[in-house]
Amino acid sequence: MTVPPPNAGATPLPHPVTGQSFVSPVPPGTGWPGDPSAPDTPVATDTQSVVDLAADCADLEDLQARVGMCRACPRLLAWREQVAVHKRAAYADEPYWGRPVPPFGDPAARVLVVGLAPAAHGGNRTGRMFTGDRSGDWLYAALHRAGYANQPDSRAAGDGLALAGARIVAAARCAPPRNVLTAQERATCAPWLRRELELLTPGLTAILALGGVGWDALLRVTDDLGWQRPKPRPRFGHGAVAALRPPGRAPVRLVGSYHVSQQNTFTGRLTASMLDEVCSALEGQISSEA
Ligand code: SF4
Repeated sequence: MTVPPPNAGATPLPHPVTGQSFVSPVPPGTGWPGDPSAPDTPVATDTQSVVDLAADCADLEDLQARVGMCRACPRLLAWREQVAVHKRAAYADEPYWGRPVPPFGDPAARVLVVGLAPAAHGGNRTGRMFTGDRSGDWLYAALHRAGYANQPDSRAAGDGLALAGARIVAAARCAPPRNVLTAQERATCAPWLRRELELLTPGLTAILALGGVGWDALLRVTDDLGWQRPKPRPRFGHGAVAALRPPGRAPVRLVGSYHVSQQNTFTGRLTASMLDEVCSALEGQISSEA
């Protein structure tokens, strides 16, 4: 990556759908489609403030807004903004979101999809989960076939995509260098996922974990929340299923899937029919024995 000219991100560029111009990273409350944050949204700046601000979220809208402003991980903050300024050559004429990518989808979801982290030139560019890259093409096509998405493609925020009954989050909400998160970054971001689960739990019936990192992050949080689970700890695998039981609630079905990364889809390790099978498994009945 070459060094950009000074203030390269300060040059406003038109959004690919709306045509409105934005600097990169995008300031909150300036009109980006789906931006949940405002200039006065509280900002988490360290591990403890993530804990405090996540626990204090009144609802999912509040949670989305606070996630979209988080600055708690110095390495990820620097990377997401550096990428937003440098850009990839193919997107040099577009503004980059360059902020944490908030949860996307139905606030009354019965199915939660948990991924790893946004891609540097996918979600970090478009500001929406799995949007603007090949991973999203695979995931949203599968969700469309399964009846959760109103369209099979996901090009940019503001393209009309909507989810019904499903919601998508990541174990960490900022793009990491080389797609690798540190243990500290995963732990720092966990309270956002924890609060998401608390707010969704009354209606949640299934969770689709994409990849072992999403699976492990999810189980760490549900353990922390006191959800019952099988012992020994369920192991990740494509098609793996486990019953989790939130205290006083009906079981939630956890389903594992290979991640929709290009590494998996290009090599045929994950096929469209395999994705369809795990989506079908989300709606299956599960034993009341957790
Ligand atoms: S990864 Fe999570 S905790 Fe870290 S800065 Fe991004 S949103 Fe905040």
